[in-house]
Amino acid sequence: IAQINPAPQNEFVHYLLVMCLFAIIPFSRLLHIVAVPVWLLVRPDTRLSLSVPFNLSNQSEDEITAADIPLGPRKREEFPGHMLVAFDACTRCNRCEDDCPANGTGDGFSPASLMKDLQKTNTLSDSNKIVTIAEANQVGACTTCGRCEEACPVGLDPLSVVVESRRALAYEGHFEAGQSTSLRQLAASSSMWNSEKTPPSEIQPSVVWPPDPASEPPELVYWVGCAGRHDPRAQKISSAVASLLNRAGIRWTTPGANECCTGDAARRMGDEGLFQQQALGTLAVLEQARCKRVLVHCAHCFNAFAKEYGTFGADLEVIHHSELLNELVREGRLGSIQALPSRVAFHDPCYLGRHNGRFDAPRELIDNIPGLERVELAESREQSRCCGAGGGRIWREDEPGAKMADRRAAQAAESEAQLLVTGCNFCLSMLEDPAAQDGVRTLDIAELLADAVR
Ligand code: SF4
Ligand code: SF4
Repeated sequence: IAQINPAPQNEFVHYLLVMCLFAIIPFSRLLHIVAVPVWLLVRPDTRLSLSVPFNLSNQSEDEITAADIPLGPRKREEFPGHMLVAFDACTRCNRCEDDCPANGTGDGFSPASLMKDLQKTNTLSDSNKIVTIAEANQVGACTTCGRCEEACPVGLDPLSVVVESRRALAYEGHFEAGQSTSLRQLAASSSMWNSEKTPPSEIQPSVVWPPDPASEPPELVYWVGCAGRHDPRAQKISSAVASLLNRAGIRWTTPGANECCTGDAARRMGDEGLFQQQALGTLAVLEQARCKRVLVHCAHCFNAFAKEYGTFGADLEVIHHSELLNELVREGRLGSIQALPSRVAFHDPCYLGRHNGRFDAPRELIDNIPGLERVELAESREQSRCCGAGGGRIWREDEPGAKMADRRAAQAAESEAQLLVTGCNFCLSMLEDPAAQDGVRTLDIAELLADAVR
């Protein structure tokens, strides 16, 4: 009878408990119950959507200084609004940590711990806390691979939080050992490489740079990238791409010594100003190209052109070399293709696959080369495991990405592939040695195709 007709005092206790529950939600981890639906409404439409605190294409440095625009968040309120919601929406489930390739490599970094510490800032008043939290969480370890976003049950994006936190560190002049040297090099020479130590190699385009306004414009401009010009291993990729373009009879050009770094690594390391300077420099060079189609073989250049340069007024069509070469093979423009009997696995570069959804073209290209048997790695496509280079990690002094590359190379050996093929010069540079130790040869997709059309 008491259950059917509860006593008034029981009813009062019930409502009191319900009110207490609502009152403690904002101060407990239950906050995610309210914050997750809000997050789903305010989250950015695209992956790896970084905030743009200032824009050098329409603001001068004096205007930025006069407006006291923070170069990175000094306190909680200076994070973008959607990130504040994200902190509260984190359920602390640790799934991002379980899948994070940087976790367990000795840096003590965990995306879940970072999110948890930032969530707690809603009860802290110390304005210096963001820098302290970023340092304590070793945010320099993150490769910005995006695997955490794939793992998160509510679609949170810890890597954008990492980049924002790195801006806080950069604002204070804190960079990882090795990274500050590379960024100084970039600021001084517009290249991450030192030309005296690693001299550039030039490829010969069919249309000389800059294209003559009186002649037929080129079909595309090949942006080789600073690795493709300076790194001896990546130079072989540029040569393979150039030979395939010539074989297909394409009218193409390339800026050669006029090229500069797209600034991708500077942005990931938190130096937004240097990134924007490089972006504007790159776009100024491309104004002379007389065509809008930009070919790249570096997944990081691809991401910069495809996703980030629109903010600075770019009106370009970027194509990754795996897509273009696949088109050329499908159209029969490369002539006969010889059989290459081998077992091949494709490693999806994070900035080509997970961040930009390009998974199929390289696989289709491999399938169109007779004799190749394609196998999938244990983690592939959206679940691809990072090689350890991204996020500026390759520029750190102590090469901490090596453990990640070892793990990825071991997956290639487990798949019994004889060839590990990829589509980014940085992945190749990380994976080549550990894969060779496991008896697996590593190639870029352009080198594989060049072997088949010889
Ligand atoms: S982006 Fe990659 S390395 Fe960085 S936190 Fe996410 S999973 Fe870890
Ligand atoms: S997976 Fe998402 S919800 Fe879970 S701890 Fe990581 S960021 Fe938070």
